[in-house]
Amino acid sequence: MIPKFFDGKQKTAKNLISTLLINTYSMINSNVENVIIIGGGPAGLSAAIYLARANLKPLVFAGSPPGGQLTLTSEVENYPGFESILGSELIEKMRNQAKKFGARIVDENVLRVDFSEPIKTVFVRRQSLIKAQAIIIATGAKALWLNLPSETRLRGHGVSACATCDGFFFREKTVAVIGGGDTALEEALTLTKFAKKVYIIHRRDFFRASKIMQERAKNNPKIEIIWNAAVEEIMGEKKVEGVRLKTVFVQRQSLLKLDGVFVAIGHKPDMDLFKGQIDLDEKGYVKIFERRRTSVKGVFVAGDCADKYYRQAVTAAGTGVEAALEVEHYLETI
Ligand code: NAP
Repeated sequence: MIPKFFDGKQKTAKNLISTLLINTYSMINSNVENVIIIGGGPAGLSAAIYLARANLKPLVFAGSPPGGQLTLTSEVENYPGFESILGSELIEKMRNQAKKFGARIVDENVLRVDFSEPIKTVFVRRQSLIKAQAIIIATGAKALWLNLPSETRLRGHGVSACATCDGFFFREKTVAVIGGGDTALEEALTLTKFAKKVYIIHRRDFFRASKIMQERAKNNPKIEIIWNAAVEEIMGEKKVEGVRLKTVFVQRQSLLKLDGVFVAIGHKPDMDLFKGQIDLDEKGYVKIFERRRTSVKGVFVAGDCADKYYRQAVTAAGTGVEAALEVEHYLETI
């Protein structure tokens, strides 16, 4: 489903409004925003709701297209308060809630940032620059995909990158997880709670996952490991029906019947924008220095761009709230 805010009719008007907003900010350059939130997923929007209710009028750059990973999910059944809701609808509700309290949301990508001064600068389209006393980075992390056309086409129709989110839809079905790291094994173990059979398809003959996870996966009777195999194609027109596998060494092809495919080959935080501006860890995630603070005073972080482990909409929203409360406190003390 196309999220309502991507609707073609609304798009031109939206772009015009975005441009107007940005131009207005750049014209009145002397105006320094209280806080700019970079990212329009659950983390950024939860922060926006709190900061708007605190009357701090946050300015959110939600990206283009906006909404983050949640808009790529179909149904969400594990966000408290919603028994079942489309990811895109959940995001739209959060946006409306934030706007209702006075947040301004611009569906633009931030192109560059400068955090070298106490007042931070954010650059957007056409060299417009906006200054702010505080920043919340909430740009998320993207699941890595195999980049097969069939995988893209069947995403949300049996192809997923989150067993916690989508495992429930595969009760008594046969599924496969692709990958050999901790995430893949954790996904496989989660799926055994629902599926009748879980294959792990891995391109090598050993896992890089931790020993304990390997033991758990190997000892689980529902899990079968297919070593030295790569997925060449995901089969099925409207929903997943199986995969075509290629054995890595002997170049032999085979078909495996499946109802679902979970891709677990890693995540990449969206941090290119911030390289050289704040400290990142060895995997490119933002380093947190106590209570949502980053290595730069006045810059805070929320959501998956600082979270390798949980990666849930609820946890992202929670850390968005934490960052908002920290910003509130910070603005009172500078
Ligand atoms: P990861 O450790 O980078 O593992 C990615 C896996 O995907 C590897 O086995 C890799 O194969 C495979 N892979 C990568 N590209 C592929 C492709 N194009 N086709 C097929 N397979 C591909 O990523 P992760 O498992 O998401 O873990 C990330 C970090 O989070 C790790 O440090 C991990 O320990 C940590 N983590 C910890 C926990 C926990 O402690 N509970 C849970 C989740 C994650 P190769 O092995 O051949 O490279």
